[in-house]
Amino acid sequence: VGFEAFKLNKQLLNAIEEAGYTSPTVIQEKAIPLALAGHDVLGIAQTGTGKTAAYVLPLLMKTKYAQGKLPRALVLAPTRELVMQIEKVCSDLGKYTDLRVVCLYGGIGPKTQIEQIEEGVDIIISTPGRFMDLYKKGVILTKELKTMVLDEADKMMDMGFMPQIRAILEVIPVKRQNLLFSATFAPRVEGLAAEFLEFPERVEV
Ligand code: AMP
Repeated sequence: VGFEAFKLNKQLLNAIEEAGYTSPTVIQEKAIPLALAGHDVLGIAQTGTGKTAAYVLPLLMKTKYAQGKLPRALVLAPTRELVMQIEKVCSDLGKYTDLRVVCLYGGIGPKTQIEQIEEGVDIIISTPGRFMDLYKKGVILTKELKTMVLDEADKMMDMGFMPQIRAILEVIPVKRQNLLFSATFAPRVEGLAAEFLEFPERVEV
């Protein structure tokens, strides 16, 4: 089966085709319908399995088009490199949408990032620390967030991001969809899932 089997719009299907994806990978096959149906999803998948598009496509579909100024989706990832890779997938697959995607990470001054946020943003892709910094500065308003993704959750925990992740979970709306991806299903990931997901559907590759 191809991507047409999913309830994705024409803009996304065209971008998928141009990206050269002919058929969904296993994790995409399993996760996309569940995420599109609004479930919380716990995905266990390594890099190279197509896990990024497995959550980016439902995210783009749900966020749909530019609207207002405040972010409606947040993706947290452990490193600047991963944030930038996710952004690339978002911009490639979202090329026929008008969605505004902003990348946030530390190691550089926040000025440009603040300006981008203030111009209006639909999707934020960020490392946990920089997101919390800009939230505390009052730059990021979270009340419109409807979808939250934690990518490489196990790595974020290994890197000691748990306090920031918890702090972020406390300042975003309770009513939201959560997608959690991890390369491994270690007990600590199970703990995070229990804390963070509501009746999750678990998918594995
Ligand atoms: P990821 O596991 O998200 O890091 O993706 C690994 C690689 O697979 C990336 O280079 C993607 O562009 C590519 N990819 C993702 N989904 C598909 C697909 N359905 N068909 C072909 N390539 C894909």
